Amino acid sequence: MNKRNFTFILLCTFFILLCKSVDTNAKTKYPNSGVVITFDDTSVNEWFEADKTLSQYSWKATFCVSKINTLSFSEITKLLKLQKEGHEIAGHGFHHFDAPKFVSKNGINKYINQEINPMLALMNFYSFKVTSFAYPFGFRNAEIDAALLKKFKIVRGTTYGAEDPFFQNCYYNNSKSVLAIGIDTDHPNFSIPYLLKLLEYTKRKHQILILFGHKPLQKITANYQTQIATLQLICNYVKQHHMTFYRLSDLDHLN
Ligand SMILES: [Zn+2]
Repeated sequence: MNKRNFTFILLCTFFILLCKSVDTNAKTKYPNSGVVITFDDTSVNEWFEADKTLSQYSWKATFCVSKINTLSFSEITKLLKLQKEGHEIAGHGFHHFDAPKFVSKNGINKYINQEINPMLALMNFYSFKVTSFAYPFGFRNAEIDAALLKKFKIVRGTTYGAEDPFFQNCYYNNSKSVLAIGIDTDHPNFSIPYLLKLLEYTKRKHQILILFGHKPLQKITANYQTQIATLQLICNYVKQHHMTFYRLSDLDHLN
């Protein structure tokens, strides 16, 4: 082999190794783009029905349950089935307290003892693996985040607005305290065109979009309801664009 050929092969090898290294770094830095779909409160029967329609997309959701002590045996059984299918069951408060209001009046210890510990005890008793928490009404502050992150891997608040997706804060942000934007039909500024804008930005910028709703139904009859058609649109978008369904607790493993 002459010197010129040798140099050429050496340069090719160097170039291939460089490309591989850039590719590996990209994978480490950016997880696949995707969505976290969460639901709050106690609409277990509607969640279970929605799953029958949406399981064809191999979707994964996070169900944030409040007032676990008020659920019937049949509802607990349905939640266990959802967990077994790979969905996440998360906490949403034993009483559904407004956390900052309760803590400013009674202190953080009383909050943990009344709102969090009894919820975790009963949910663990039922074999739910609870590692995430969604704040009732989305109300939170840094002091409560710090206390709750000793008990949960991820805590979730809420966010609003219809600004350009670049200025939104409803994406995974490399922190354990995240914000979700509403997909209930009556959520302020909710619209399908805006949701599509957020999904498009999420895909283009390798983001993870975090969403929250309450009761999924085919036909909307009241506030705090998510239309099944909205969920189908999200699931279709995720599938068509090779994005990933993340659960809240999955965000903990991305760093
Ligand atoms: Zn709630």
